[in-house]
Amino acid sequence: MTHADKHQQLRDLPGVDHILELIKTDDRFFELPRKVILESIRSVLEKIRQDILGETHPKIENKDIIDQSLELAGRKIKNRLFPVINATGVVLHTNLGRALLCEDALENIQAISRSYSNLELNIATGKRGIRYTAVEELICELTGAQSAIVVNNNAGAVLLALNTLAQDTEVVVSRGELVEIGGSFRIPDVMTKSGCRLKEVGTTNRTHLRDYEQAITEHTGLFLKVHASNYKIEGFTASVGLAQLSKLGKRKNIPVMEDLGSGTLIDFSAYGLPPEPMVSDSIAAGADVVTFSGDKLLGGPQSGIIVGQKQTIDRIKANPLTRALRIDKLTLGALEATLKLYRDEKRAIREIPTLRMLTMSHEQTCKKAKDLQKRILKAVDTAARVELADLESRPGGGSFPELKLPTLCVTISPRDMSVARLEKHLRLSSPPIIGRIEGDRYILDPRTIQTGQEEIITTTLEKILLKK
Ligand SMILES: *Cc1c(COP(=O)(O)O)cnc(C)c1O
Repeated sequence: MTHADKHQQLRDLPGVDHILELIKTDDRFFELPRKVILESIRSVLEKIRQDILGETHPKIENKDIIDQSLELAGRKIKNRLFPVINATGVVLHTNLGRALLCEDALENIQAISRSYSNLELNIATGKRGIRYTAVEELICELTGAQSAIVVNNNAGAVLLALNTLAQDTEVVVSRGELVEIGGSFRIPDVMTKSGCRLKEVGTTNRTHLRDYEQAITEHTGLFLKVHASNYKIEGFTASVGLAQLSKLGKRKNIPVMEDLGSGTLIDFSAYGLPPEPMVSDSIAAGADVVTFSGDKLLGGPQSGIIVGQKQTIDRIKANPLTRALRIDKLTLGALEATLKLYRDEKRAIREIPTLRMLTMSHEQTCKKAKDLQKRILKAVDTAARVELADLESRPGGGSFPELKLPTLCVTISPRDMSVARLEKHLRLSSPPIIGRIEGDRYILDPRTIQTGQEEIITTTLEKILLKK
């Protein structure tokens, strides 16, 4: 095409207004905001202009411009955050939103956000109240702590506690505990941001009480222990227990803090899982302050819970940073409802999705897997090999390092398609289905598939594999 031809073609392009007039007769027009349609028409026309100037020779009909614009507008008004089906078996999957909320939490969120609430009103006195009152007593009851406060997340909790207790002082930490949690949370960096100076003691594999003791100077402000959430040091190792460190802290008048990471309110070893540190144990061991996440093993909304001695928590509450990290009413409502279930452990296990999935018995996963296999086989016939395999799910979310839970999974090997392609199709379906690939098999792990999602998985697979 010559230069002159191109310019003629550009001049022949319809204007935005002309396309808009034409679109007004389309049914889809009424479902879309006018502003979004206009933006979409402009984008589509701009793309065509670029194509004309480039080496592609687009054939442009008004009908195509209208279709493309409406399609683009349709995509623009869709939510960018939407539900997906987690078939990975990773119960606490940070990329997939971590903990699922229990029904009570969802109901409470609706109740307190449809209506005004007593968020910061003391109903008894008619005066201003404190938002944390809703959960503080409950947290203390469940952990044995004297006092508690909740902030945006555990990273915020660590930042706030360090800043309150140890700004401009040295914080003593074992070299074996200078961890990085996914998503760029590194203990040394948080330390710097809190205004503290890190004083490393011991070695990566071994730290002794005398290491802490010898590190004490007039500048020492805090002993910090960090739970190695996502890794494990094995072999020739030694570390100092929280109780021992707390004793030293009391003797030397140095407060002791523990970042528990996940932390739990129930004893997982009673359910055949390895013991994960319980918040109540850390309190009983004498820590001045303990921080943990609301949306890891606790199974509640994203939040960071700080528990400890009243005196210490009072100082944290008075820190202006607390206001910057405060939780909103939705979080508070969800957290209160979730925590309440812990008063009856059996009920907590049954109703808090995280606990239910983690404690799911092998028989239960077998039953779910066999049922899913049967449905899929019936739907896809010979388009894929659909089998059962003894594999392992991982809890995720920085809890239970190295733990693998034996699970019967459904494996799919398509006949006329690569597994990579199948994975991509499932991921791009609506709702997206997220599983994993192992070798030449696509794996569906029943542990994290919720009731009712088997049907969606089956029909989606049928569509993809039989190209319906
Ligand atoms: C997960 C984790 C954090 C961060 O908690 P968030 O709630 O994700 O902010 C901090 N410390 C440890 C040890 C953790 O495991």
